[in-house]
Formats: sequence, structure tokens, C-alpha cells
Amino acid sequence: MFDKVLIANRGEIAVRINRACQELGISTVAIHSEADSESMHVRIADESVCIGPNPVNKSYLNAHSIISACEITGAQAVHPGYGFLSENPSFAKMLEDHKLTFIGPKHSHIQAMGDKIQAKKIMKEFGVPTVPGSDKAIESEKEAINISKEIGFPVLIKASAGGGGRGMKVVQSEIELRETIPIIKQEALSFFGNDAIYIEKFIDSPRHIEVQVICDQHGNFLHLHERDCSIQRRNQKVIEEALAPGIDNEKKEKLFSICVNAMQKMEYLGLGTLEFLYKDGEFYFMEMNTRLQVEHPITEMLTRIDLVREQICVAHGEKIFTTQENVKPLGHSIECRINAEGSEDFKPSAGTIGLFHPPAGNGIRLDTFIYSGYKVPHYYDNLLAKLIATGRTRNHAIKRALRSLNEIVIDGIDTNINLHKKILLSKEFKIGSVSINWLENNITSL
Ligand code: ADP
Ligand code: ADP
Ligand code: MG
Repeated sequence: MFDKVLIANRGEIAVRINRACQELGISTVAIHSEADSESMHVRIADESVCIGPNPVNKSYLNAHSIISACEITGAQAVHPGYGFLSENPSFAKMLEDHKLTFIGPKHSHIQAMGDKIQAKKIMKEFGVPTVPGSDKAIESEKEAINISKEIGFPVLIKASAGGGGRGMKVVQSEIELRETIPIIKQEALSFFGNDAIYIEKFIDSPRHIEVQVICDQHGNFLHLHERDCSIQRRNQKVIEEALAPGIDNEKKEKLFSICVNAMQKMEYLGLGTLEFLYKDGEFYFMEMNTRLQVEHPITEMLTRIDLVREQICVAHGEKIFTTQENVKPLGHSIECRINAEGSEDFKPSAGTIGLFHPPAGNGIRLDTFIYSGYKVPHYYDNLLAKLIATGRTRNHAIKRALRSLNEIVIDGIDTNINLHKKILLSKEFKIGSVSINWLENNITSL
């Protein structure tokens, strides 16, 4: 096993990775910006290196500083977490060139799947059903119009390098299409450094269902079942649950075998998530995330597999400890993303946390990095904590989530805790199987 791993991230995920490393007997190196010197991920790591000022391009995205930090500390591997450099193929390649292990797939996988146009093309060739749309980057307005007419309006214009729910827009007509293309291209260039765009059929009111996979270098390609991430706002996930309610097992099993087959063909390595839209009994592939996912804990709670531990082990060349037959999800798990933002206006909130009281008790897990007196900086993602409630049944998990949302106290800054309570109390959520548009359509009346 590695002796020392550098964690190239911050916040709750850096804390989560630190825990897995400690349990494996690996010593850890935290990196941080100037604003993060008092952050929990720095406090709990064995060593830490300040790698630059607060803006992310000067710190958490600064590949050269991170590699220097590995050299100074003698770290042999880098865990990128999610966001930041986790899906950056040149970073993975740079590490390889410096004889450091990137805890993730091969850089060729990141490259292929990071380009969403190419990812869909590859998956289609492997027999994965995809969302209808353009199979290459849009080069002219005329091409965009032809494709849109072929698949029928409304269509979605998407940035090939997009992520985090950014870089996409629905258009209803040819006029709107003409107006929107340059806007999305500009946005894509400034956010993702790449202005390639593509067009997809806009699927009306689908669900978001994703499949977790894990693969090693010894010919083992496993799926760890699915998650339902349909509770979204602005294409960003708010609540996730596993397993997905109301989809029959036969359909799911068919999808899993398609996913596993595609991973085999790609010779994929490590953790990955294949994201699908689900509508009228059909699945349509959207994209693959070649990294640890924010919502991985719900899968961990159901399968009792420590995904981060396994991710580190397979990156080191070990075999997955279990087999497909032994992956048996049990019960139901729900994750609420607690963000620093107003429950009503969603304005990001920063400031000092007063009293912090975490919920606890049977079936409750809280992944966080906050503590009483912690000053939440305004430079970064506003995810404060993930509350994961697990129960015997879906209803049991909902009840546990609700009682723990009543227990948790985060004073001093605004959070979306109230929104979570309203969602979990709503009749539609209780019934299950709502679409990705449900939250936004009902947010004011909840
Ligand atoms: P998940 O599917 O794991 O929930 P999200 O889409 O919520 O992933 O993204 C996780 C984090 O990574 C968020 O902080 C998001 O802003 C960031 N992120 C994802 N993709 C990109 C990207 N292409 N560029 C920049 N940030 C990204
Ligand atoms: P990101 O890389 O930002 O996660 P995705 O392609 O995964 O981008 O899309 C994010 C979300 O946007 C999806 O979870 C879904 O809610 C919505 N979405 C994406 N593609 C479509 C589509 N073709 N039709 C309808 N909704 C879509
Ligand atoms: Mg996505």
C-alpha cells in the first residue's frame, strides 16, 4: 500500500478521503489555500502544505504547486476528490510523468469521457442507449438547425466540457437556437476553457438515474447498483437516494449489464458513474463521471462497501475484495446536501458558524468539515455537509432524515435545511419517482 497520499481537495470530501487513508494506515498530506489554513481537512491531516492564495486557479487548480507539494512531502499518490482537478486528463498525465499515482482511472479514460460528445459516441458504439442528438461538435448554425429539426424542438444546447450543472440551455425554436448558440459557446469557453458545444433532445420531465461502477486491473468490473438523483435545482443535485424507487428489477439488471459490458470494453479502472435520464421505461445515457461522486455515501450505506478505500486499493493495483454476487444492497438511503445558502432566495451565504450541533443516532451519517467557530469562506463551493439517513425501507429512511434535520443546529449562516424538510414532508416525494423538474416547479408552494 502507499505510505503517503496527498489529498488535492478541500471541504467535506478532503475529510472523507483522509478518513479512508487513516483506516488504511496511509499518512496524509493536505493542501490548502491561505483562507483554508484553519479548515478541518488541514487540521486532521498528518501534514499540510499551503499551495497558494484563495482563488482556485492559484491554489486547488494549480497542478504545478500540487506536484511540488508531493515532492516536498514524499507523497506517492494523489487523491483528487471531485471537482477541481479530478477530471483533468493533463493533471493525471503530469502525475504519471512524475511517477506519482493518480487515484482514479487512466488519463485516457478521463480524456475520452470528459469530452461529452466523444463519451456519448463511445457508449453508443458499446450498445449503451444514449440521448438522441448530434454525434460531433456543432460547427455551424445551419448544422445546429438541421439536427434540431431532425430530433424536434425543444432541444438542449450543451457544452462538451461542461459540468456541475453549468453550460447548458433549453431552446424551443430556431430563433432561440440562433440567439443562444453564441452565448453558450462564450460561457463554455470562460468556464471550461473549451467552446465545443453539442445538441441533445430535451427530454421532458425524466428522472436522473445513475449507475455506480468499480473496476480493477485484474479483470473485475462490478456495478454497485443505482442512485436516483432527480431532486435537482438548476440541474444541480439537492437530494439523492438509493435504490431508485418504482423501477422494476429486470430493467435495472439489463442496464447494469450494459454498463458493466461497456466498462470491460473500455478496460476502465477505478470508480465511475454512468448518468442516465429515465423516461417511459427507457434509459438514455448522458455522461460518465470518472471520479468519486458527491453522493457516493448512499451507495456505501446500502452495500457496506467503503468506496474510497476500494478506490485507493484498486489504484494501488489490488483486486476488488468482493464479487458481484456478494454485492447485496440492503435497505434504503437518502442524502441531503446541506448548502450555505438561503432556504428561500438561494443566495450563497458566508460567515462564521456559531453553534454547531450534528445529528446522530441509529442510521445517521454526517459528512462535513464544519465546526463551531469555523469561518466559511466565500471563495468555494457552498456545500457544508451531507446528511445521510439509512433505514430498512424508504419510508424509514425519510423519517430518519426528517428527525435528524430537526436535530441539526448550524447557527450563524443561512442554510437550506428548511428546504430539505419541506421536500421530505411533501406528498409527492413520499410517493417517490418524481422527475428532475418537480422541485423547481413546486419550490414556492412546498
Ligand atoms: P456529482 O455528480 O458528484 O454530484 P456535481 O455535478 O455536483 O457532481 O459536481 C461535483 C463538484 O464538482 C461540484 O462542486 C461542481 O461544481 C464541480 N464540477 C463538476 N464538474 C465540473 C467541471 N467540468 N468544471 C468545474 N467544476 C466541476
Ligand atoms: P453535468 O456535467 O453538469 O452534470 P449532465 O449532462 O449530467 O451535466 O446534466 C445535468 C442535469 O441536467 C441532469 O441531471 C438533468 O437533470 C439535466 N439534463 C441533462 N441533459 C438533459 C436532457 N437531454 N433533457 C432533459 N434534461 C437534461
Ligand atoms: Mg452530470
